[in-house]
Amino acid sequence: MKKPNWIQTVLFSGTMMALVLLTSGAKDPKNDMNNAQAVQFEQPPLGYAYNALEPYIDAMTMEVHYSKHHAAYTKNFNAALAEANIKEKNIEAIFARISQYPAAVRNNGGGYYNHNLFWQIIAPGGSKSPQGELLEAINKNFGSVDAFKEEFSKKAMSVFGSGWAWLIVSDGELKITSTPNQDNPLMDVVAERGRPVILIDVWEHAYYLKYQNRRKEYVDAFWNVINWDQALKNYLGK
Ligand code: MN
Repeated sequence: MKKPNWIQTVLFSGTMMALVLLTSGAKDPKNDMNNAQAVQFEQPPLGYAYNALEPYIDAMTMEVHYSKHHAAYTKNFNAALAEANIKEKNIEAIFARISQYPAAVRNNGGGYYNHNLFWQIIAPGGSKSPQGELLEAINKNFGSVDAFKEEFSKKAMSVFGSGWAWLIVSDGELKITSTPNQDNPLMDVVAERGRPVILIDVWEHAYYLKYQNRRKEYVDAFWNVINWDQALKNYLGK
């Protein structure tokens, strides 16, 4: 047989390529549909640039924290829900009976939701100090904004290992609490339950690249990036 000339080679390659595209094209919609069914909760967009909180929280930490840690919690949460055949769409309802679910739902569900709140509470552009009803409640419950900050910072410093410190509202009263790992105050396993108003991530992954073991410096820096407008919305349940 004669060797194929260049045009035959091009035509043959083109046909093979079209065939590959067609085959993968035929497969993709089915895979996408399966994925869509498995994804119960989406990772919300960050809403600002990774470097928007510099110099208090560095861009590299934000990028790894959002695109790796938070993305993994989101993916693993959806997988854990599928595995346990939990179809509930209301995450607060899931947390309200988290004691009955597998640990993977608790750990990854908390990791998913806590970070959603955290990106909002450290968002740039908010008021520089507490306002309105939240300011009144802080003054009433803690005496002053400075006294509140001191008590909250102390709680953040006292978390042993990985976890979170929280300002919650419960029966109209503000309280400072902490949770281990990825637990949160909406879960039926925590000692003090309530609606989250302010939270700080004190896992080492939240500060180690910039602050290493100096958690105190990170907690102090947190007060420079807190979005008090969002805290007020959380307090009012809006
Ligand atoms: Mn984190």
